[in-house]
Amino acid sequence: MDKIEAKKRIDYLKETLWENSRKYYVDNAPTMSDYDYDQMMHELEALESEWPEFLTPDSPTQKVGSDIDKPFADNAESGIKKEFAQYKHKYPMLSLGNTYSIGEVEEFAERAVKTLDSGFTYSCELKFDGTAICLTYKKGKLFRALTRGDGVVGDDVTENARHISNIPQYLKGDNIPDEFEIRGEILMPFSAFDRLNKEREEMEEAPFANPRNAASGSLKLLDSKEVAHRGLWCTLYHIPADSVMFATHSQALDAAASWGLPVSDKRKICHNIEEIEDYINYWDTQRKNLPYPTDGIVIKINELAFQRTLGYTAKSPRWAVAYKFKAESALTKLLSIDYQVGRTGAVTPVANLDPVLLSGTVVKRATLNNSDQMQILDIHENDYVYVEKGGEIIPKITGVEISKREPGAKMPQFPTVCPDCGAQLAKTEGEAKWFCPNTDGCPTQIKGKMIHFLARKAMNIIAGEATVNQLFDLNLAQTPADFYDLKKSQLLTLEGWLDKSSQRFLDSLKESRSVPFERVLFALGIRFVGEQTAKSVAQHFGNIDAIAAASKEELLAIGDVGEVIANSIYDWFRDERHIIEVQRLKAAGLQFTCEAPSEPTSNALEGMTIVISGNFSISRDAMKELITRNGGKNSGSVSGKTTFLLAGEKPGPEKIKKCESLGVRIVSEQEFMAMIPAAEASASPQESEPMSIKNQQEAIGSLFSFDDNQPETVKENTLFDDEPTLF
Ligand code: NAD
Repeated sequence: MDKIEAKKRIDYLKETLWENSRKYYVDNAPTMSDYDYDQMMHELEALESEWPEFLTPDSPTQKVGSDIDKPFADNAESGIKKEFAQYKHKYPMLSLGNTYSIGEVEEFAERAVKTLDSGFTYSCELKFDGTAICLTYKKGKLFRALTRGDGVVGDDVTENARHISNIPQYLKGDNIPDEFEIRGEILMPFSAFDRLNKEREEMEEAPFANPRNAASGSLKLLDSKEVAHRGLWCTLYHIPADSVMFATHSQALDAAASWGLPVSDKRKICHNIEEIEDYINYWDTQRKNLPYPTDGIVIKINELAFQRTLGYTAKSPRWAVAYKFKAESALTKLLSIDYQVGRTGAVTPVANLDPVLLSGTVVKRATLNNSDQMQILDIHENDYVYVEKGGEIIPKITGVEISKREPGAKMPQFPTVCPDCGAQLAKTEGEAKWFCPNTDGCPTQIKGKMIHFLARKAMNIIAGEATVNQLFDLNLAQTPADFYDLKKSQLLTLEGWLDKSSQRFLDSLKESRSVPFERVLFALGIRFVGEQTAKSVAQHFGNIDAIAAASKEELLAIGDVGEVIANSIYDWFRDERHIIEVQRLKAAGLQFTCEAPSEPTSNALEGMTIVISGNFSISRDAMKELITRNGGKNSGSVSGKTTFLLAGEKPGPEKIKKCESLGVRIVSEQEFMAMIPAAEASASPQESEPMSIKNQQEAIGSLFSFDDNQPETVKENTLFDDEPTLF
């Protein structure tokens, strides 16, 4: 390559890398794989070292990718544009040199052996795949949380960090420095990611590409309460300091763990390259069993004095290297394409594949997203396609092996009519998906809406897809209101229904009559009306008749209702079939009026979702009232949305176990009382002892002997656990 060509290539690489860096860090919507991005970066590094005259300070090889370049794409989802305050980092927040080659890890170790005296070790750690965070604690109290930003200046996300359940507000223990920084990663566990994307799809919002993008987008939300709902999780891995506090990195992290900070227990001290390779090989397979995403292994020189000897490049420490795992991809044959209609009428192409093993599971189906994506992939019938698990979860087709294409292979034709009801498909400008407009006549959409109605977050009725299909196909239920007309004698004549299961279904329908109005409104399945919108609309209008009578302007007066939602609600209530359905549901005894909320006396618990379990010094009802009086929300079961579990004596072991697995904080009655104004707390008769770790462990130990206060339905859902499973 001559000088002119080198310059041209360098310019091209710089531009492409910056462009993709913006898509990745700012838009949270990468279009290039990490592997391809890293290969380009390595090519640029090699060219710049060969042609140093073309190395400029603005090169992506010299700066960390910045998430600070606003237009606040993440926040566009809430429609508000607002800046976070920004602060300079005390120590720059850098990236890590990375490699996909064991050979280069060996070179890193060889360089360390040559440069350093003997007697050093390596700290091997998981490389968590989230977004970096820097926490500052002052006098044992969380003072500030900053994102990496551009490495020099970060966004102040302290309020949001306070809503991440495993970030302690207060530290406890010995020798806690008066002020110190600790860095780590904010992650989204796979379970929270699945839930979030499911919710986004229900709301017809673009799903996040992977848990990393979801974590990063969630951390920058403007609504801290929503952050609490996202189920984020934190792990910390580095204490930067210029004073000598510890001799080794691992001692520093052990100390942090003893102060109550979340530090990984998967770290290992290795003494040589063989041990490092064993660690890499072990986690390359075992990481698939972890509940959170990882994308490699970080190998750090453990002794802090040696770290100082090695120092930093402009972009990363010389004392550490990241070995990155390649996203698993497999080549297989496309057998056919199904066009699936969702409850909202969106038509999604799903590829049926020759079964292939990928990241430990057999993949038979993968999404093609929409017709545009099929065109971009240039997919043809019987093609060999590359399948990857986006964020290791949902298989998707990422490419086509054109060299294996059969001569004369045709391009699949995206249907023009609904594969279910035959209605002409429609596409609104700007939308990627084709829709079946036959909302109330298309059987798949009707069944989808009935399944939605029964869902846990809606009416929480013990039944799922198979029940809906059976009742629909036998003409026993064509709308949700029909469920309430079913008799036990009818159910008992159906295949698979026994006395107990029929009774349970009917009991569950009966219980659903006390489901609050906001959830009933959500259950109706009005397009674009998700859980949160349903809540706002229900609270604003107070009852269904007022909503039905509202003009578009009146609907638009609600904070989170925009034009699209207002039109959707307005139109829904202009359809006579819907009015009849509401009348029938009313006659069945469902709630269509909001309970008047008691005025909170303090906002000490605002934005917190609290689950209570066990016995308290006051009645459970009084405790629940105390929560709402102070601005908090009660919830029956522990989930990623739970801020903390308020545990009294003998808390339910299932709940404790769930908290452990989701990293949800457990708070004693005494700690809880300290959170609310003294006048409120003293209204309760007496304080109980905080729950000791021992008690918590005992509670876990007695898992099978203790009757949890869990609502029946939580366990019962398994009976008809026939949620649609695509993959
Ligand atoms: P990185 O993610 O490769 O590695 C550095 C980061 O790892 C640190 O900042 C830290 O946040 C994190 N980390 C996780 N566990 C750690 C541990 N145990 N110890 C220390 N750090 C740990 O680097 P980056 O600068 O955050 O991002 C660059 C990478 O992002 C690129 O290599 C590329 O893979 C990806 N990227 C992809 C695109 C794309 O278009 N696909 C664009 C830009 C960047």
